[in-house]
Amino acid sequence: MAREDYEVVIGLEVHAELATKTKIFCSCPTSFGAAPNTHICPICTAMPGTLPVLNEKVVEYAVRAGLATDCTISQDSKNDRKNYFYPDLPKAYQISQYDKPLCEHGKIEIDSSTGRKTIGITRIHIEEDAGKLNHDEFGRGSLVDLNRAGVPLIEIVSEPDLRSSEEVDLYLRKLKSILEYIEVSDCKMQEGSLRADVNVSIRKKGAKEYGTRTEMKNMNSFRSITRAIEYEIDRQVDVIDNGGVVEQETLRWDEVSGKTFSMRDKEDAQDYRYFPDPDLVAIKLSDEYIENIKKSLPELPESRKQRYLTEYHLSEKDANIITSSKYLSDLFEEASKICNNPKAVNNWIISDISRILNETEMEPVAIPFDSKQLAKLVMLIDKGTISSSIAKKVLVEMFEHPRDPEDIIDEKGWVQISDEGAIRDVVSKVLENNSQSVADYKAGKEKALGYLVGQAMKETRGKANPQMLNKMFKEELK
Ligand code: ADP
Ligand code: MG
Ligand code: ZN
Repeated sequence: MAREDYEVVIGLEVHAELATKTKIFCSCPTSFGAAPNTHICPICTAMPGTLPVLNEKVVEYAVRAGLATDCTISQDSKNDRKNYFYPDLPKAYQISQYDKPLCEHGKIEIDSSTGRKTIGITRIHIEEDAGKLNHDEFGRGSLVDLNRAGVPLIEIVSEPDLRSSEEVDLYLRKLKSILEYIEVSDCKMQEGSLRADVNVSIRKKGAKEYGTRTEMKNMNSFRSITRAIEYEIDRQVDVIDNGGVVEQETLRWDEVSGKTFSMRDKEDAQDYRYFPDPDLVAIKLSDEYIENIKKSLPELPESRKQRYLTEYHLSEKDANIITSSKYLSDLFEEASKICNNPKAVNNWIISDISRILNETEMEPVAIPFDSKQLAKLVMLIDKGTISSSIAKKVLVEMFEHPRDPEDIIDEKGWVQISDEGAIRDVVSKVLENNSQSVADYKAGKEKALGYLVGQAMKETRGKANPQMLNKMFKEELK
């Protein structure tokens, strides 16, 4: 059978590191990139006799995430021990949540090429991150860095509602933007702050039962996730078409070869022997506590998007792009207020700014200029100080050597020529040197005008005011 005869079923377990200042059960800092084993203490290194104390912020952030994804918040929750042995886990168990997670039964809406779709959130629970093994490049052994041990995580488990790599991509982007908006995680995927375990299975179209799934753990790039899913679907179709059965197992995606490999540990064989952590008390939340968190939530991407459609008349597509990042969305609103030209700000963000972000693989938060500077750029065009083609060069400069657009224009001598005399001189010169185009225009070839304007732009290295050029050429050619 062909791939089209199968339906793809995908569910995601997403881990997000919380942006709390301190770890989940001790007061060590959570910041990324410190020298190995400098953010540790007896608690997060599991010294005998130490006791964990739950960081209240962790509960608050998880509840924020739950409310922002329409979950029911459990008022009676607890921490459990998940037992397994691995050298980066000093206690030999991870404190997580088993049968009483903080949040359950939520949902996230995505807009795919086939329309709007609701993806169920099974649960969101809190847990601690493990440390990190650094494998010695000479093969002499591995060194453990426990800075990350005890960094708080939320795990967001989706229902197996996703049906394609496209839907997975949209779901993850939506989830990432929600977590950014509510400021519970920095979601820096390259630093591992947001990573997904991707569960994939296939079944014959129309079948009632799900097929057996495989799981690709700790994926932290959108591109790899899409590639890995596409590869895995093809692999499973192949296995079944050749009379085989898909085995439930954990796979490793290899970015270089573009293939998945078995990690030879059968998921089913894992017995975590969960039990309630006796060192921690139950988590009881009052109505008032949950209500207060609800009140403190900012406007979420979905609501902003709707507002952009009605208030600013953006297209659905543009509104989606802009609200996908809180940073872009703030940049849009603030700059629009300052320059009073939301249409222009929208165009800059959708076209040139997005293109530069893509080319340089830069996250919106890393944009080196602020809303005031973007607004100034728009106002400089509106006032006729620079042409839009010069403005594009100014924007590139604002990315490369961030400073005020006015300063860039001054330094580079890019001010637009709007002086009537100067424009007239250029027009005369161009007319003199291009008699053929002049004749063409007079013979009715409108296109020749564009050519002449282009020549004048070239002559002034893009600095002549294009509206004035147009007008003056027309006058001269009458
Ligand atoms: P665990 O991986 O801890 O055993 P679950 O069995 O609850 O947990 O499933 C984890 C994830 O796998 C969830 O996101 C769920 O939606 C997804 N999932 C479960 N069954 C399938 C399936 N047959 N195909 C694809 N995804 C699945
Ligand atoms: Mg799993
Ligand atoms: Zn510690």
